[in-house]
Amino acid sequence: MTIHSNGYRDIHHCDVLIVGAGPTGLTLAIELARRGISYRIIDKCAHPSIYSKALGVMARTLELLHQAEVADTLIAQGHQVTGMQASSYTKVLAQVEFPSLIQSPYPYVLMVPQNITEQVLIDRLTALGGTVERQTELISLHQGDQEHSQVHAIVQHMAGDAQLEEEISARWIVGCDGAHSTVRHLSGIPFEGEALAQSFALADVQIDWKQDHNKLHVYLNKGYLTAFFPMLNHRHRVIIGMPPEYVISSSKDQSISLADIQAVLDICLPIKVNMSNPIWLAKFAVHQRKVKNYRTGSIFLAGDAAHIHSPIGGQGMNTGIQDAFNLGWKLALVCQGYAAESLLDSYHAEREPIGQQLLRGTSLFTKLATTRHSVPIAIRNTVAPLLSSRKVIQKRLFRLLSETGIAYDRSPIVQQGKGWHRPMLHAGERVPDGGYGQSPRHTLLLFAGEHPVIPSPKPPTLEDDIDEPDHRSLLTQVAVKWKDIIDVHIWLPDHPLMTSLPLPSHIHVDADHDLHQRYGMGKGGYVLIRPDGYISYIGGLSDEMDLIGWVHRSFQIPARL
Ligand SMILES: Cc1cc2nc3c(=O)[nH]c(=O)nc-3n(C[C@H](O)[C@H](O)[C@H](O)COP(=O)(O)OP(=O)(O)OC[C@H]3O[C@@H](n4cnc5c(N)ncnc54)[C@H](O)[C@@H]3O)c2cc1C
Repeated sequence: MTIHSNGYRDIHHCDVLIVGAGPTGLTLAIELARRGISYRIIDKCAHPSIYSKALGVMARTLELLHQAEVADTLIAQGHQVTGMQASSYTKVLAQVEFPSLIQSPYPYVLMVPQNITEQVLIDRLTALGGTVERQTELISLHQGDQEHSQVHAIVQHMAGDAQLEEEISARWIVGCDGAHSTVRHLSGIPFEGEALAQSFALADVQIDWKQDHNKLHVYLNKGYLTAFFPMLNHRHRVIIGMPPEYVISSSKDQSISLADIQAVLDICLPIKVNMSNPIWLAKFAVHQRKVKNYRTGSIFLAGDAAHIHSPIGGQGMNTGIQDAFNLGWKLALVCQGYAAESLLDSYHAEREPIGQQLLRGTSLFTKLATTRHSVPIAIRNTVAPLLSSRKVIQKRLFRLLSETGIAYDRSPIVQQGKGWHRPMLHAGERVPDGGYGQSPRHTLLLFAGEHPVIPSPKPPTLEDDIDEPDHRSLLTQVAVKWKDIIDVHIWLPDHPLMTSLPLPSHIHVDADHDLHQRYGMGKGGYVLIRPDGYISYIGGLSDEMDLIGWVHRSFQIPARL
């Protein structure tokens, strides 16, 4: 960077400026780096957070992290929790085993401290050639009035004693800078919501009990919510949600002692549990806030910068990471010229309702769990066991908690063909296993259904004349024309003939018709899968022309090609 004697600064350009290197910003940087986009990621802190904050990584997040090739490393450093028991006084309200409820390759909640998750993401970013620019703080932001205008940001580098300013001009800026987001403040975007009356205490400790270490235990007693999350090395995260009237005696500031938390635990548990060897103790208030628009021109907000809520349900970091996965591939396609800017509007259309639902759900659950009024307690303690014993309700609840139930079926960028029929999956739905392979591109699957098609052993190449209508099928045209952004795979029914054929790598035999069934494609059809594992287009074999039209409306060939 150069600052001239007359105060004039050189301006540096990039496509995307990411402000904040927490889990949200790091995930977005990885998604852009995987696709070769020009981006910068800055963080005002000299080093990553040392706190274990978000502990629970949900199944849907792991599915997405698998695509970014980090899930295995993270899983190796975490503890898998496979069940939960909730009680009120000595009455068991709910007892569930996750594997029977979560349809995912990751049917558990992975307990791993947030500082480890961040380190795993940093390592992946480094392997992709990326670096977080630390001690670099966003201090000013200006967005031009014109459409397609750049965002001008002033950042301050704080290494050593010097405080150097740099001007960065970016096509897009993404505020991943947490609950007190500077991007949000500088853009004048309100963070609407309220502070909840309940306060929380947290302790990462060892406890002296003999409960199953693979289960999460929750107690609702006397207006307190107490949750025990098992961690590696026989430790636990203890979280206590306190009723509005309760004020922890010791202090007004954030500090709290083990004795303070032990005193609350002694009041609110029906059994005696002793805590020892604390690593981290904290108390905090909870706000429920959200921005109305996740996109304002060239400015996006993601993660805690866009939504904050009660820690009940452990959704905050997970939702931020999923915001980043949703936005990453869209920004990449627009930056590369393969999609129009309007694609970026779908980030708000798809993610804002998720944030809204999250705030509503966590607020309701926090109030219900910490109520001290006898009538709601009686209703809760009667209704909860009845509901929670029903498999259908359990499944619905855990689809919510694991975030595997998230679907974008009302999104403007998904479509079902006229030939769609049950039991096909719906457009906008998450695909089985949460994704198809680890490609950063879209994937088009052709299911041949019951009809054994003898495939051409020659995969399409660029030399094929795609303007010659009869030369190859329309599907082949898609494969050739959009090869940089769409992978094509053909699934054929199991047939004795197939085993004797040398098949090209994009043609597969569906043993036992398993994949056909999982996609509801017994009669064949097309599925276009987005890089984040949701269905962009789904239709029957008769929808070929409609699908081609959809692809042509969704994408464009960059002018430079
Ligand atoms: C006690 C506790 C327990 C939690 N438990 C869970 C859980 O179990 N599961 C779950 O999903 N979530 C949980 N959460 C929530 C989770 O920690 C957050 O949702 C998550 O950290 C949000 O990530 P983020 O990347 O959006 O923001 P952050 O992690 O807040 O990162 C923001 C980054 O932006 C940087 N920054 C800020 N301003 C600037 C600026 N002007 N210039 C440059 N950089 C800037 C900051 O230094 C920071 O590194 C918990 C939170 C707490 C406090």
